[in-house]
Amino acid sequence: MTIELQNITKLYGEQKALDQVSLSINKGEITGLLGPNGAGKSTMMKIISCFLPPSSGEAKVYGFNVMDDPLKVKAKIGYLPEHNPLYPEMYVREYLHYVAGIYKMKDNIEERINEVVKLTGLQIEQNKKIGALSKGYRQRVGLAQSLIHDPEILILDEPTTGLDPNQLVEIRELIKSIGKEKTVLLSTHIMQEVEAICDRVVIINKGKIVADDETSKLSKLLGNTETIKIELDKSVKLADLKRISGVSNAIQINELSYEIIASGDQDIRKALFQWAVKSDIQILSMNKKDSNLEHVFQQLTKA
Ligand code: ADP
Ligand code: MG
Repeated sequence: MTIELQNITKLYGEQKALDQVSLSINKGEITGLLGPNGAGKSTMMKIISCFLPPSSGEAKVYGFNVMDDPLKVKAKIGYLPEHNPLYPEMYVREYLHYVAGIYKMKDNIEERINEVVKLTGLQIEQNKKIGALSKGYRQRVGLAQSLIHDPEILILDEPTTGLDPNQLVEIRELIKSIGKEKTVLLSTHIMQEVEAICDRVVIINKGKIVADDETSKLSKLLGNTETIKIELDKSVKLADLKRISGVSNAIQINELSYEIIASGDQDIRKALFQWAVKSDIQILSMNKKDSNLEHVFQQLTKA
């Protein structure tokens, strides 16, 4: 097993950031760690990358315990931290040299830098200062530094946050192509990102894993949950929608549009019409929506 977590708990003072988390990551997979802000994603990644000790439990990478053999673990892992802290005054190649130094690489450093520059599409920008690069290219530098020692595992903490839509697509493609050769664990709070790049999704909420499955299977996890999209002639309170018989949750899409999630596989359309008539509200449109990952996520991480 490449990464193995057993009953990992992490406390920051009184606060439990991770609560008895167990997880195994298979070689060669791209796994998405999906969860809202504060779920514990970064904490988990820092523990795997030896930047933070767990309060209890065991974390192993290729059988090496993160507490006992941090150097062996770090040799296996390339880590791109959240907010990718780079040195804006350094030149791209100078920075990659610096990182190679941290890993105590001695041989063929120039060749390896050439390789990662090529791999991450940095050729044109390789002689610029990091501070002069766009956010998308800075993220490529972040990926290049994580790859410099040719690790088998990549841990990427929210690698696409803050990118514009074009950069986002480019970085996702890059991660997918690098992921063909590596085991990748990436965190995100964007459902579509998981659908776009990951083979497997692990959903984490309030320090606990609430779902873990192949991406393609996860949307079926909640069974026959049905979502109805409605447009009304006036806005209503979500609480009123949630009180309708057979409704488990409601989400406001915009001022007059709502998505209503049924509990189980009930057909709630009749109940919705009855509620509308009684409340003197007109339903302008009503459509059934297939259950997708976004809804699974909302269901699993709702308060
Ligand atoms: P995520 O990456 O999913 O947003 P984090 O792992 O950063 O979540 O945080 C999990 C929880 O732990 C949050 O409630 C956060 O406020 C708390 N936390 C994270 N780092 C620290 C810290 N250094 N000191 C105290 N609390 C922290
Ligand atoms: Mg985080």
